[in-house]
Amino acid sequence: MIVAKHFIFLGAPGVGKGTQAQRFAQLMDLPHVSTGDMLRASVQSGSEIGLRAAAVMESGALVGDEIIVRIVEERLLLEDASDGVIFDGFPRTIHQAHALDNLLAVHGDEIGAVLHLDLDDEEIVGRLSGRRVCSKCGAIYHIRYHAPTVYGICDICGGGLLQRDDDQPAVIRKRLAVYQAETAPLIAYYHDRPAYHLVSGEGEVDDVFSRIVKAVEVAG
Ligand code: AMP
Repeated sequence: MIVAKHFIFLGAPGVGKGTQAQRFAQLMDLPHVSTGDMLRASVQSGSEIGLRAAAVMESGALVGDEIIVRIVEERLLLEDASDGVIFDGFPRTIHQAHALDNLLAVHGDEIGAVLHLDLDDEEIVGRLSGRRVCSKCGAIYHIRYHAPTVYGICDICGGGLLQRDDDQPAVIRKRLAVYQAETAPLIAYYHDRPAYHLVSGEGEVDDVFSRIVKAVEVAG
């Protein structure tokens, strides 16, 4: 039996998790599973989960653990998740981390690596406020550090670039506070496991990506 290996990107909003997780997913040929993207798709489609999540997401708070664990559980049952997935933005609470451990134990799956990206707060606020996201394919840009070739247009699919509602300054502050209170405790939760790696999120996208690949290669 093949053991599925799942990878977790841990870190504050704006640290570069999404960008790095998308690239890592390509490299590993595993699906990129972003709970934030899944929730935004539910909001757009007007599903029951979307209706319940929309206001919470706009405020910068976290969606309830029960909903999140349910959507992750369903996602892991899909055929393409059988070798593992790259989690981005999950788990985000101790409860979710426990739920994931239980799920993996049931299926005999493992955590391939926990990649904890670290960056100081000032840099994070700058990255979030300049972030733009493709409305069609979800590719991530930055107005200064990773601008598209044509202003406002995605290089990959030609979709229009938008600023996320929750990338406004007041909501950014709230999301960082929520991260400290709810998600930062996960660092202690994973810290002593051999799969845990602390990676500096400073510098260019390529530099951070090289650090991630090296951390995983050295461990593997
Ligand atoms: P993200 O795209 O990961 O920054 O997520 C955007 C928003 O979706 C967050 O601010 C939360 O409101 C919600 N969200 C995404 N993932 C989770 C999660 N694992 N647990 C709770 N809420 C989440």
